Amino acid sequence: MIALVAYGNKKVSLEEVEKPCLTNNNQALIRVKGSGICGSDHIFFDDKVTLDWVKYPVIVGHEFAGIIEKIGDDKKGLEVGDHVVVDNYLRCGKCIYCKTGRYFLCDYHAELGQTINGGFAEYCVVPITNLVKISNNMDFKHAAIIENVATALRACRRANVRFGQKVVIIGAGPLGVLIGLISKTMGADVAIVSRGARLTRIEQLNFFKVINSTNQDWESIILKDTNNAGVETVFEASGSSEPLLKASRIISKTGKLFLLGVTGGKIGNIALDKIVLNEIEIIGSVSGMGYFEEAIKLVENKIINLDQIISHTFSLAEVLEAFRYESERVEGAIKIVILQ
Ligand SMILES: [Zn+2]
Ligand SMILES: [Zn+2]
Repeated sequence: MIALVAYGNKKVSLEEVEKPCLTNNNQALIRVKGSGICGSDHIFFDDKVTLDWVKYPVIVGHEFAGIIEKIGDDKKGLEVGDHVVVDNYLRCGKCIYCKTGRYFLCDYHAELGQTINGGFAEYCVVPITNLVKISNNMDFKHAAIIENVATALRACRRANVRFGQKVVIIGAGPLGVLIGLISKTMGADVAIVSRGARLTRIEQLNFFKVINSTNQDWESIILKDTNNAGVETVFEASGSSEPLLKASRIISKTGKLFLLGVTGGKIGNIALDKIVLNEIEIIGSVSGMGYFEEAIKLVENKIINLDQIISHTFSLAEVLEAFRYESERVEGAIKIVILQ
């Protein structure tokens, strides 16, 4: 079968590999139908950011969905032919984090597409525990990125987004836009700060405000809009640590700053006394653990429309070109899905 294999040191190639087979009763063989390109997949192409848990060589791709082609005896109610979304985080079940329901933080972190083979391939072996059934009517283009939706939804829940709340999102990548769409659904006034080719697409999504950071001073715009009080919630989703200083200055008392991108950055000149005296919280948020079922409902019931963020689709044979579209933001690319 064809798969996108990462070898480390920025070497990635689309090549012929052996079709995988089940090695125990708790696994299923998935015929992959759709896989999303995630911003974090760029760790395989450049060395700006590294994740120390990655194990090479590995087939890339942690957001995907497909059809069960074979299943081990421990079926857990699933059958051959079922359509499923894959929850990418494996769990040991024994460490304190797994035992307390926080399996993304498992001490023995294992993840499809990073420590074991993932979804930019024709087939993938997945533990049955990591499969979430979807209806046969759900478009695989949408199913492919449920992990993304779950991650956005979990961040919104942790931020306690509600009616009338002012939310600022920095960065209009897939996660930022999804957080925007979900926050809007939850009743918040959403302002998105972005730049470049993506803006044209974002402007069509009816957010409360879209601010172009190349020629507008978003810090003063937001402070002016709020009579200098600042906003309760800021999501930093730009994948850069550069806007953090400004972000820290637009947060209201008891507000929350969520950091969602792995940037390799450090907190530099942020005025820590303001954090203390205004009781501001800075929160890292990275996974969608525990939110897959709800994310599926959001999409199946058409509460959010993923066609608003999926800007391009490609075939598996074109996956390297798809990555170029994503990293160079060709035609304002937001989310790209590989369909098979
Ligand atoms: Zn991802
Ligand atoms: Zn564990």
